[in-house]
Amino acid sequence: MTANILDGKALSAQILQQVRQNVEARLSAGKRLPALAVILVGEEPASAIYVRNKRRSCETASVRSVSHDLPASTTQEALLALIDQLNEDPEIDGILVQLPLPKHIEAETVIERIHPDKDVDGFHPYNIGRLALRLPTLRPCTPRGVMTLLKASGEELKGKHAVIVGASNIVGRPMGLELLLAGCTVTTTHRFTRDLKSFVSQAEILVVAVGKPKFIPGEWIREGAMVIDVGINRLPDNSICGDVDFETARQRAAWITPVPGGVGPMTVATLLENTLEAAQRHAP
Ligand code: NAD
Repeated sequence: MTANILDGKALSAQILQQVRQNVEARLSAGKRLPALAVILVGEEPASAIYVRNKRRSCETASVRSVSHDLPASTTQEALLALIDQLNEDPEIDGILVQLPLPKHIEAETVIERIHPDKDVDGFHPYNIGRLALRLPTLRPCTPRGVMTLLKASGEELKGKHAVIVGASNIVGRPMGLELLLAGCTVTTTHRFTRDLKSFVSQAEILVVAVGKPKFIPGEWIREGAMVIDVGINRLPDNSICGDVDFETARQRAAWITPVPGGVGPMTVATLLENTLEAAQRHAP
């Protein structure tokens, strides 16, 4: 078997066009552009690339992006004061703080300071709690983007055994909540899991978010599985690869995401979907 490709690049382009059409309809109805405030603290090269992609996608989707590039020396108090100001600003619909933050700033405190209605990353405990209670509002972008990709395959997801490798707050944990909401039987594995192979080889849906290049060998993949590779790893030759050994995995999977061009662009497109939804709520 050679897997079908779950093409995140193509699907994300469609989503951005849908957001754009919705924004244009709002403009025709006399409403303003949705606005996303993007805060970058420091100069980490990977973060700068992610932020640049997000701002570029705002342009494609006709969403106004408001940049706040702050020096690495910014104090936590100054960052919280900026968030307070953006929370109060009626012209701003979404607030995104690019992670990771410099070590002297506590990410949890910053995330909790964003008003849940403007939390377009979906990381605020209120929004995660709503997702856990099957009342989703703003949902974390990467797991929501993965669900959009899985659904685009046309496969029935209900009842499938989904195995997640990685249990971080931004990917693994909310991914489990999304898959549960879709009616999957969910197993979450992590660094303390014993005999990882035995879990991976049972997965009808496999989502890997670990951050180790080609960590999952293709031989572990169940025949006919849907494989979602969230990992983004830069190799010494500067190329990018995922957490799954793509070439061997695609011989066994029915569906697989490439890296790059799979989950990455879906995350950014979902951020724009979330920003539109936040705007629809603020200024219906
Ligand atoms: P993280 O470091 O916060 O979490 C990694 C997880 O992997 C942890 O839960 C840990 O328990 C687990 N893990 C580590 N070693 C393991 C092992 N031997 N066996 C099983 N589990 C193990 O990372 P993260 O923020 O979740 O990111 C993971 C990867 O996904 C990174 O490569 C990151 O760059 C990428 N990422 C991509 C996107 C995207 O849009 N495509 C978004 C977020 C993160």
